[in-house]
Amino acid sequence: MTKLALVLNSGSSSIKFQILDAEGDTDTEPLISGLVERIGEDNGAIVLKVGGEKYEIETPIADHTEGLSKAFDLMTEHNVGPTQLDLVAVGHRVVHGGQLFSTPVLIDDQIQGMIEDLIPLAPLHNPAHVAGIKTAREILPNLPHVAVFDTGFFYDLPPAAAVYALNKEVASEHGVRRYGFHGTSHEFVSKQTPALLGKDLSEINQITFHLGNGASVSAVSGGRAVDTSMGMTPLAGLMMGTRTGDIDPGVVFHLYRNGLSIDEIDTIFNKKSGLKGICGANDFREINRMIADDDPDAWLAYNIYIHQLRRYLGSYMIPLGHVDAINFTAGVGENVAQVRADVLKDLEAYGIKIDPERNENNTGEARLISTDDSTVKVFVIPTNEELAIAQYALELTEK
Ligand code: ADP
Repeated sequence: MTKLALVLNSGSSSIKFQILDAEGDTDTEPLISGLVERIGEDNGAIVLKVGGEKYEIETPIADHTEGLSKAFDLMTEHNVGPTQLDLVAVGHRVVHGGQLFSTPVLIDDQIQGMIEDLIPLAPLHNPAHVAGIKTAREILPNLPHVAVFDTGFFYDLPPAAAVYALNKEVASEHGVRRYGFHGTSHEFVSKQTPALLGKDLSEINQITFHLGNGASVSAVSGGRAVDTSMGMTPLAGLMMGTRTGDIDPGVVFHLYRNGLSIDEIDTIFNKKSGLKGICGANDFREINRMIADDDPDAWLAYNIYIHQLRRYLGSYMIPLGHVDAINFTAGVGENVAQVRADVLKDLEAYGIKIDPERNENNTGEARLISTDDSTVKVFVIPTNEELAIAQYALELTEK
């Protein structure tokens, strides 16, 4: 019998939702999926996908409460409402768990309050999560609700990786440290390598590149995260679709003193930089088309992107000592063979050798793309954050 869970991912102006079998395989298709878009605007929309059909309504959506209620109504209209299906739990993605949450938790009023208390650390994300959690708990009061934190997997980073060389008192007063994000995906991917390598997780050192619109890389030793590229916020680390990634913090002072406001700088760093800021596009399909036309900005964006991935790879190989597996996941990591080939180019001296044919052969499943004689194994492992959240929700519900 399937164990259906509703998974909610509430963003600042959108809510993504899925209902899926929490006991399904890693590539299980959700029973339904959908999106509430443009919350707070007049041209809001709700998209629902059920069994190959797509239903869409356009309607003003004042806030998250209204968005979620209308999404539930649309689901009910198509006989897949959360009260019509036999759900076992609701899983909520929460971006920031601060130093309060290391593992997923069952939500009660107190936990909800603690997530609310973390809003200063994630002013764009946590208010939306709290709104989503409140509404879902009101509409579905008899189901267990579980919060799964993006930061959880990195809660125990070694201090040398987690603590910034910032004044200790200032850091402590303002909660400044490396929290890391995409943890659900990094953990989900890193847990799949034992089966692929035929080794125990406790013996495996691995580096995982999660390359979507947001991008991060983690170093994991024996199942424990020992470093990651995102920082106190998801702005740090690799160059991303629209985010700068690492940049000299002095640039902030410089722009501020030159007359830009903090909010303007925030918007430029988060939404108008990265690949988009360099070449005008942040989708790799578009960037590849531009590169085919020999667009110099697209080439530059691509070259910076690859350079940064290689730099991080090198900087994680040394502290790890030896590496058993390098994993690629998320939209770019799973689909863009050229990126994988260029990141791992000419690294034979380090025991890393990609097999071009395996690399190109996109099966949509977890697979080896290195040669048989490559001492470091390279894998493409599709991530499935919704399934991971559903699995946690079920696990806590059955405890
Ligand atoms: P997020 O969850 O951060 O929005 P995804 O993991 O869905 O991101 O990745 C989105 C990105 O992946 C797109 O912007 C695009 O660059 C890239 N991508 C996805 N599919 C493909 C594909 N088939 N070919 C090339 N790039 C792709």
